[in-house]
Amino acid sequence: MIYLDAAATAPVRREALEAMWPYLSGDFGNPSSHHTLGEAAAAALATARSGVASVLHCRAGEVTFTCGGTEADNLAVKGIALARKSADPTVNRVVISAVEHPAVEESARYLERAHGFAVDVVPVDDKGLVTIDALRSVLGPQTALVSIMYANNEVGTVQPVAALAAAAHEFGVPFHTDAVQAAGWLSLDVKALGVDALSLSGHKVGAPKGSGVLFVKGRIQVEPLMHGGGQERGRRSGTENVAGAVALSTALALSEVTRKEEAARVTALREEFIDRVLAAVPDAMLTGHRIQRLPSLASFCFPGTSGESVLLELERLGVICSSGSACAAGSDAPSPVLLALGIPPETAQTAVRFSFTSAVTSAELEQAATAVETAVGRVRNLAVPQQH
Ligand code: PLP
Repeated sequence: MIYLDAAATAPVRREALEAMWPYLSGDFGNPSSHHTLGEAAAAALATARSGVASVLHCRAGEVTFTCGGTEADNLAVKGIALARKSADPTVNRVVISAVEHPAVEESARYLERAHGFAVDVVPVDDKGLVTIDALRSVLGPQTALVSIMYANNEVGTVQPVAALAAAAHEFGVPFHTDAVQAAGWLSLDVKALGVDALSLSGHKVGAPKGSGVLFVKGRIQVEPLMHGGGQERGRRSGTENVAGAVALSTALALSEVTRKEEAARVTALREEFIDRVLAAVPDAMLTGHRIQRLPSLASFCFPGTSGESVLLELERLGVICSSGSACAAGSDAPSPVLLALGIPPETAQTAVRFSFTSAVTSAELEQAATAVETAVGRVRNLAVPQQH
């Protein structure tokens, strides 16, 4: 089996698993308990927090552990917007891009439905990029928050986050970015990016599912979504997932050590793969930006097929990938992300996404490109009525 669905989830790194084991066994204490077991857990949590902070170039106190990317996005979008509105009720608009993950989009829609916010959706161009002018045109004194993702999970387009954050700041508006897909591939230096909040998910970087992080810059207020014992400095009540936090910190720090070389190596493999696929299926359409894209992601539309049928054929041929985001898997509706890029619905339904771990090899991708040619050919033959 060749696994090319790393954007959906990646395997847990052995080092992360080994680092978390003590906190599931011998050192299983609750970090809020005032005895040795509790103190050992609290110390592990503090070390994990500092580890994440050093990758993000922020202070440990600016790192909140969550149960994943979805919770981090919810806490950023709802928490920051609600806190700003309660300080000034006229600040009641949120800005998102047209290609956000549902964790951001649905959080903004919730604010609209339940808290009287207006949502401004910034369009993207045909490569999935948000332009600075498009963002500037929706910003104003009523804007509570801008949330624009770092790298898109379906087409891999990487946004000019630093420039977008700077534009938001010209209007005095905090900027959040969903960096779930960027993690492990792109710099997460929040100072260089100039972002006020950033979300991460453990299971995309080699930690288990159910672990995540929200960075929030020091002075930004966040209305908590979870109320209870006041853990995570009141931002996120609930007994902390110590083992998950330790695993996330371990996996993130390890990936940071080799990130630049891996990104360069995998980018070269991705380019080779894209060229092979476009040569094998000449009318295939690469979606997203050719250059400003994640090293690890290649996405195509194969006109005259159905993405789901191509996936099934690919799986028979030993290649695992997806038709778009894992969240939308099984849905017949064309992807809103592809529609936002101006791709017609009938073409959007032919989408297939290939996403790689850093362990991907040239031989695997060569085999996968051959499988794509076979799979697309089979689906097209099935679609053409047989002549008798
Ligand atoms: N944001 C993006 C861009 C994602 O790709 C995902 C997961 O696919 C999430 C958020 C949600 O993260 P989690 O699965 O940890 O809730």
